[in-house]
Amino acid sequence: MIYLDAAATTAVRREVLEAMWPYLTGDFGNPSSHHTVGESAARALAEARAGVASWLGCRASDVIFTSGGTEADNLAIKGIALATPRGRHIVTTRIEHEAVLESVAYLERLHGFEVTFVDVDRSGLVSPDAFAAALRDDTTLATIMYANNEVGTVQPIAELTAIARAAGVPFHTDAVQAAGWLDLNVATLGVDALSLSGHKLGAPKGVGVLFVRGRIPLEPVLHGGGQERGRRSGTENVAGAVALATAARLSERDRSSNVERASAARDAFVAEVLATVPGAELTGHPGLRLPATASFVFPGTSGEAVLLELERRGIVSSSGSACAAGSDEASHVLVALGYPEAVAQTAVRFSWGADVASEHLAPVAGALREAVATVTSLGR
Ligand code: PLP
Repeated sequence: MIYLDAAATTAVRREVLEAMWPYLTGDFGNPSSHHTVGESAARALAEARAGVASWLGCRASDVIFTSGGTEADNLAIKGIALATPRGRHIVTTRIEHEAVLESVAYLERLHGFEVTFVDVDRSGLVSPDAFAAALRDDTTLATIMYANNEVGTVQPIAELTAIARAAGVPFHTDAVQAAGWLDLNVATLGVDALSLSGHKLGAPKGVGVLFVRGRIPLEPVLHGGGQERGRRSGTENVAGAVALATAARLSERDRSSNVERASAARDAFVAEVLATVPGAELTGHPGLRLPATASFVFPGTSGEAVLLELERRGIVSSSGSACAAGSDEASHVLVALGYPEAVAQTAVRFSWGADVASEHLAPVAGALREAVATVTSLGR
């Protein structure tokens, strides 16, 4: 089987499993306990936090461990919007992950917020000018993703944050898909908050990180024992935090060679698909894109049917985001990019991990050509 759905999730890396194992077994303490077993867990948590802080180039006290990317997005958006007295206006885009869109919709529905969606162009890029025009005196938060999970387009975050900073608006970015591939230094990016998820990076599902710059007021979403400096109550997932920090260290160590290998594989694969699969169109930006994501539409087919044909040929991929998979709904991302719904329903996304090189993808274009031909001939 060739697994090409790394944007949905990845396997836990062996080194990560080995690093977290002690904190699931012998060193199982609660970091809040005042005895040696607890203190050992607290030390491991502090080390993991310091590791994440050095990855992001921030203070350890600005790192909040969460249960994943969804919780990090919820906490950033609800937490900053509800704590900031500036007003009740949020700026975002229509291509965000559901964790962002639904958090914003919640604030709109129950807290009287107004939302401005900045348009993206056909390649999925936000225009800095359109972003600047959307900011108002009462804007409490801007939230724009770093890299899109369906089409892989990478936004000019540093340019957008400079505009937000000049307007005094806190800026959050969902960097879940960027992790492992792009620079996450929060000072270079200029972001005030940034969300991450462990399971896209070789750590297990159920752990994530929210970076929030210390001076930004944050209203907690989870109330309880006051862990994570009162910003996220709940007994900490020590093993998960150790796993995420280990996965981050490994991926950052190898990042430039991983990017080079994955980009070469992507470029060869995209060129072959476009040359050999009739009607195939690459979605997203041709250059400003993640190294290990390639999404296409195949007008006149059905994305779900192509996926099934690919799976019969031993290739596992996705119709877009995992949430949309299995449903017949057109991708909200492709619709926001201007694709008609009928075309958006023909999308197939291929995404792979750091260990995949050109030779691993070599059989995929041929299988895809067969799959598309089969679906087309059956009229599905
Ligand atoms: N944000 C983006 C861009 C994602 O791709 C995902 C996962 O697919 C999430 C947020 C949610 O992360 P998690 O699965 O850790 O809740």
